Amino acid sequence: RQNEEKELQELEKKASDPQTNSNCKLFSELPISTKTIEGLKRANFVELTDIQRKAIPLGLAKRDVLGAAKTGSGKTLAFLIPILEVLYRAKWNQEDGLGALVISPTRELAVQIFEVLKKIGKQHMLSAGLIIGGKDLNVEQERVAKMNILVATPGRLLQHMDQTAGFDCDNLQVLVLDEADRILDMGFQKELNAIVENLPKQRQTLLFSATQTKSVKDLARLSLRDPEYVAVHEKA
Ligand code: ADP
Ligand code: MG
Repeated sequence: RQNEEKELQELEKKASDPQTNSNCKLFSELPISTKTIEGLKRANFVELTDIQRKAIPLGLAKRDVLGAAKTGSGKTLAFLIPILEVLYRAKWNQEDGLGALVISPTRELAVQIFEVLKKIGKQHMLSAGLIIGGKDLNVEQERVAKMNILVATPGRLLQHMDQTAGFDCDNLQVLVLDEADRILDMGFQKELNAIVENLPKQRQTLLFSATQTKSVKDLARLSLRDPEYVAVHEKA
Protein backbone atom coordinates (compact mmCIF):
# COMPACT_ATOMS: atom_id res chain seq x y z
CA ARG A 1 0.00 0.00 0.00
CA GLN A 2 2.63 2.47 1.09
CA ASN A 3 4.88 1.51 -1.79
CA GLU A 4 2.03 2.03 -4.20
CA GLU A 5 1.34 5.46 -2.78
CA LYS A 6 4.97 6.36 -3.24
CA GLU A 7 4.96 5.06 -6.81
CA LEU A 8 1.87 7.14 -7.62
CA GLN A 9 3.39 10.33 -6.27
CA GLU A 10 6.63 9.69 -8.11
CA LEU A 11 4.80 9.03 -11.39
CA GLU A 12 2.66 12.12 -11.04
CA LYS A 13 5.73 14.26 -10.51
CA LYS A 14 7.75 12.81 -13.37
CA ALA A 15 4.79 12.78 -15.77
CA SER A 16 4.32 16.51 -15.31
CA ASP A 17 7.53 17.17 -17.28
CA PRO A 18 6.79 16.17 -20.90
CA GLN A 19 9.87 17.97 -22.21
CA THR A 20 12.25 15.67 -20.36
CA ASN A 21 10.17 12.59 -21.14
CA SER A 22 10.32 13.27 -24.87
CA ASN A 23 13.88 11.90 -24.70
CA CYS A 24 12.66 8.45 -23.67
CA LYS A 25 13.42 5.84 -26.32
CA LEU A 26 12.24 2.74 -24.47
CA PHE A 27 8.86 2.15 -22.82
CA SER A 28 10.75 1.12 -19.68
CA GLU A 29 12.19 4.65 -19.45
CA LEU A 30 8.79 6.38 -19.37
CA PRO A 31 7.20 7.48 -16.08
CA ILE A 32 4.52 4.79 -16.27
CA SER A 33 3.35 2.13 -13.83
CA THR A 34 5.06 -1.23 -13.52
CA LYS A 35 1.67 -2.72 -14.45
CA THR A 36 1.72 -1.04 -17.86
CA ILE A 37 5.42 -1.76 -18.37
CA GLU A 38 4.69 -5.41 -17.67
CA GLY A 39 1.82 -5.44 -20.17
CA LEU A 40 3.96 -3.81 -22.85
CA LYS A 41 6.76 -6.26 -22.22
CA ARG A 42 4.44 -9.23 -22.58
CA ALA A 43 3.19 -7.84 -25.88
CA ASN A 44 6.82 -7.40 -27.00
CA PHE A 45 6.72 -3.62 -27.24
CA VAL A 46 10.17 -2.28 -26.38
CA GLU A 47 11.03 0.86 -28.32
CA LEU A 48 8.71 3.81 -28.95
CA THR A 49 7.82 4.83 -32.49
CA ASP A 50 8.19 8.49 -33.52
CA ILE A 51 4.58 9.47 -32.92
CA GLN A 52 4.63 7.65 -29.58
CA ARG A 53 7.76 9.56 -28.51
CA LYS A 54 6.09 12.84 -29.30
CA ALA A 55 2.55 12.15 -28.09
CA ILE A 56 2.86 9.89 -25.02
CA PRO A 57 4.79 12.35 -22.80
CA LEU A 58 2.12 15.01 -23.49
CA GLY A 59 -0.68 12.54 -22.84
CA LEU A 60 0.93 11.49 -19.57
CA ALA A 61 1.08 15.17 -18.58
CA LYS A 62 -2.70 15.32 -19.18
CA ARG A 63 -2.34 17.72 -22.09
CA ASP A 64 -4.75 17.79 -25.02
CA VAL A 65 -3.04 16.41 -28.12
CA LEU A 66 -3.74 16.76 -31.82
CA GLY A 67 -1.66 14.01 -33.42
CA ALA A 68 -1.05 13.34 -37.08
CA ALA A 69 0.84 10.35 -38.41
CA LYS A 70 0.22 7.92 -41.22
CA THR A 71 -1.43 4.54 -40.82
CA GLY A 72 0.85 1.97 -39.24
CA SER A 73 2.89 4.47 -37.23
CA GLY A 74 1.69 3.27 -33.85
CA LYS A 75 -1.03 5.71 -32.87
CA THR A 76 -2.95 3.14 -30.80
CA LEU A 77 -0.38 2.96 -28.00
CA ALA A 78 0.03 6.73 -28.20
CA PHE A 79 -3.42 7.06 -26.63
CA LEU A 80 -3.89 3.76 -24.77
CA ILE A 81 -0.84 4.27 -22.54
CA PRO A 82 -1.94 7.76 -21.38
CA ILE A 83 -5.46 6.40 -20.72
CA LEU A 84 -4.18 3.58 -18.50
CA GLU A 85 -1.77 5.85 -16.66
CA VAL A 86 -4.08 8.79 -16.09
CA LEU A 87 -6.71 6.44 -14.62
CA TYR A 88 -4.14 4.51 -12.62
CA ARG A 89 -2.75 7.68 -11.10
CA ALA A 90 -6.30 8.76 -10.24
CA LYS A 91 -6.75 5.37 -8.47
CA TRP A 92 -9.73 4.71 -10.73
CA ASN A 93 -11.89 1.75 -9.74
CA GLN A 94 -15.21 0.07 -10.50
CA GLU A 95 -17.31 2.60 -8.60
CA ASP A 96 -15.84 5.55 -10.50
CA GLY A 97 -17.63 4.55 -13.69
CA LEU A 98 -16.57 5.61 -17.15
CA GLY A 99 -13.10 7.16 -17.06
CA ALA A 100 -12.02 6.95 -20.68
CA LEU A 101 -13.78 6.74 -24.01
CA VAL A 102 -12.20 5.87 -27.35
CA ILE A 103 -14.19 6.62 -30.48
CA SER A 104 -13.21 4.73 -33.60
CA PRO A 105 -14.71 4.95 -37.11
CA THR A 106 -15.30 1.23 -37.73
CA ARG A 107 -16.07 -1.95 -35.84
CA GLU A 108 -12.91 -3.59 -37.14
CA LEU A 109 -10.67 -0.79 -35.86
CA ALA A 110 -12.52 -0.69 -32.55
CA VAL A 111 -11.94 -4.43 -32.09
CA GLN A 112 -8.23 -4.00 -32.86
CA ILE A 113 -7.89 -1.20 -30.28
CA PHE A 114 -9.77 -3.29 -27.72
CA GLU A 115 -7.43 -6.26 -28.28
CA VAL A 116 -4.34 -4.09 -27.71
CA LEU A 117 -5.96 -2.57 -24.62
CA LYS A 118 -6.69 -6.00 -23.17
CA LYS A 119 -3.09 -7.06 -23.72
CA ILE A 120 -1.27 -4.06 -22.32
CA GLY A 121 -3.87 -3.34 -19.62
CA LYS A 122 -4.06 -6.87 -18.27
CA GLN A 123 -2.33 -6.09 -14.97
CA HIS A 124 -4.61 -3.16 -14.22
CA MET A 125 -7.84 -3.44 -12.20
CA LEU A 126 -9.83 -1.52 -14.82
CA SER A 127 -12.80 -2.90 -16.74
CA ALA A 128 -13.10 -2.35 -20.46
CA GLY A 129 -15.89 -2.84 -22.97
CA LEU A 130 -16.59 -2.64 -26.67
CA ILE A 131 -19.64 -0.83 -28.09
CA ILE A 132 -19.83 -1.49 -31.78
CA GLY A 133 -23.31 -2.70 -32.53
CA GLY A 134 -24.09 -5.74 -34.57
CA LYS A 135 -25.07 -7.43 -31.33
CA ASP A 136 -28.19 -7.33 -29.19
CA LEU A 137 -28.56 -3.86 -27.67
CA ASN A 138 -29.87 -5.33 -24.40
CA VAL A 139 -26.80 -7.46 -23.93
CA GLU A 140 -24.58 -4.40 -24.37
CA GLN A 141 -26.83 -2.30 -22.14
CA GLU A 142 -26.36 -4.55 -19.14
CA ARG A 143 -22.62 -4.13 -19.34
CA VAL A 144 -21.81 -0.61 -20.56
CA ALA A 145 -22.95 1.10 -17.39
CA LYS A 146 -20.22 -0.63 -15.40
CA MET A 147 -17.22 -0.06 -17.64
CA ASN A 148 -14.19 2.12 -16.83
CA ILE A 149 -12.92 2.24 -20.41
CA LEU A 150 -15.05 1.97 -23.54
CA VAL A 151 -14.05 1.60 -27.18
CA ALA A 152 -16.97 2.56 -29.40
CA THR A 153 -18.19 3.45 -32.84
CA PRO A 154 -20.06 6.79 -32.99
CA GLY A 155 -23.55 5.63 -33.99
CA ARG A 156 -23.78 2.89 -31.43
CA LEU A 157 -22.34 5.03 -28.67
CA LEU A 158 -24.93 7.69 -29.29
CA GLN A 159 -27.64 5.05 -29.19
CA HIS A 160 -26.50 4.08 -25.69
CA MET A 161 -26.28 7.70 -24.59
CA ASP A 162 -29.92 8.10 -25.66
CA GLN A 163 -31.38 4.78 -24.58
CA THR A 164 -29.33 3.10 -21.87
CA ALA A 165 -30.44 3.85 -18.34
CA GLY A 166 -27.51 4.21 -15.97
CA PHE A 167 -25.02 5.03 -18.72
CA ASP A 168 -23.30 8.02 -17.23
CA CYS A 169 -20.33 9.95 -18.65
CA ASP A 170 -20.16 12.64 -15.96
CA ASN A 171 -16.87 11.38 -14.58
CA LEU A 172 -15.06 11.05 -17.88
CA GLN A 173 -11.37 11.97 -17.70
CA VAL A 174 -10.07 11.16 -21.18
CA LEU A 175 -11.73 11.28 -24.59
CA VAL A 176 -9.93 9.85 -27.63
CA LEU A 177 -11.02 10.50 -31.19
CA ASP A 178 -9.07 7.97 -33.22
CA GLU A 179 -8.77 8.14 -37.01
CA ALA A 180 -10.70 11.41 -36.84
CA ASP A 181 -10.34 12.01 -40.57
CA ARG A 182 -12.09 8.72 -41.29
CA ILE A 183 -14.81 9.36 -38.72
CA LEU A 184 -15.60 12.58 -40.57
CA ASP A 185 -15.25 11.01 -44.04
CA MET A 186 -17.84 8.45 -43.01
CA GLY A 187 -20.31 11.22 -42.22
CA PHE A 188 -20.34 10.99 -38.42
CA GLN A 189 -19.96 14.73 -37.85
CA LYS A 190 -23.42 15.11 -36.34
CA GLU A 191 -23.04 12.07 -34.10
CA LEU A 192 -19.67 13.34 -32.88
CA ASN A 193 -21.08 16.72 -32.00
CA ALA A 194 -23.93 15.14 -30.07
CA ILE A 195 -21.53 12.83 -28.23
CA VAL A 196 -19.10 15.59 -27.27
CA GLU A 197 -22.01 17.68 -26.03
CA ASN A 198 -22.88 14.84 -23.65
CA LEU A 199 -19.40 14.82 -22.10
CA PRO A 200 -17.99 16.93 -19.29
CA LYS A 201 -16.10 20.01 -20.53
CA GLN A 202 -13.38 19.44 -17.98
CA ARG A 203 -11.53 16.52 -19.52
CA GLN A 204 -8.45 15.56 -21.51
CA THR A 205 -8.92 15.01 -25.24
CA LEU A 206 -6.55 13.20 -27.61
CA LEU A 207 -7.34 13.45 -31.30
CA PHE A 208 -5.45 11.31 -33.81
CA SER A 209 -5.66 11.38 -37.53
CA ALA A 210 -3.70 10.13 -40.53
CA THR A 211 -4.26 13.37 -42.41
CA GLN A 212 -4.78 17.00 -41.44
CA THR A 213 -7.83 18.16 -43.36
CA LYS A 214 -9.82 21.30 -42.77
CA SER A 215 -12.63 19.30 -41.19
CA VAL A 216 -10.18 17.65 -38.77
CA LYS A 217 -8.92 21.09 -37.74
CA ASP A 218 -12.52 22.28 -37.27
CA LEU A 219 -13.25 19.27 -35.11
CA ALA A 220 -10.08 19.92 -33.10
CA ARG A 221 -11.14 23.49 -32.50
CA LEU A 222 -14.48 22.29 -31.12
CA SER A 223 -13.25 19.42 -28.97
CA LEU A 224 -9.72 20.25 -27.77
CA ARG A 225 -8.46 22.85 -25.33
CA ASP A 226 -5.13 24.54 -26.01
CA PRO A 227 -3.84 21.39 -27.75
CA GLU A 228 -0.26 20.43 -28.45
CA TYR A 229 0.15 19.65 -32.12
CA VAL A 230 2.38 16.68 -32.94
CA ALA A 231 3.04 15.31 -36.40
CA VAL A 232 5.31 12.76 -37.96
CA HIS A 233 5.95 13.32 -41.62
CA GLU A 234 7.01 10.71 -44.08
CA LYS A 235 10.63 10.85 -45.05
CA ALA A 236 11.18 12.11 -48.57
P1 ADP B 1 -1.80 3.30 -36.53
O1 ADP B 1 -2.96 3.40 -35.59
O2 ADP B 1 -0.95 4.52 -36.52
O3 ADP B 1 -2.22 2.92 -37.91
P2 ADP B 1 -1.15 0.97 -34.96
O4 ADP B 1 -1.22 1.51 -33.59
O5 ADP B 1 -2.29 0.17 -35.44
O6 ADP B 1 -0.84 2.14 -36.01
O7 ADP B 1 0.21 0.13 -35.08
C1 ADP B 1 0.62 -0.43 -36.30
C2 ADP B 1 1.45 -1.69 -36.05
O8 ADP B 1 2.68 -1.36 -35.39
C3 ADP B 1 0.76 -2.70 -35.15
O9 ADP B 1 0.98 -3.99 -35.65
C4 ADP B 1 1.44 -2.52 -33.81
O10 ADP B 1 1.45 -3.71 -33.06
C5 ADP B 1 2.83 -2.12 -34.21
N1 ADP B 1 3.48 -1.25 -33.20
C6 ADP B 1 2.95 -0.15 -32.65
N2 ADP B 1 3.81 0.41 -31.79
C7 ADP B 1 4.93 -0.35 -31.80
C8 ADP B 1 6.19 -0.29 -31.11
N3 ADP B 1 6.46 0.70 -30.27
N4 ADP B 1 7.10 -1.27 -31.36
C9 ADP B 1 6.81 -2.25 -32.24
N5 ADP B 1 5.66 -2.37 -32.92
C10 ADP B 1 4.72 -1.43 -32.71
MG1 MG C 1 -4.99 3.42 -35.76
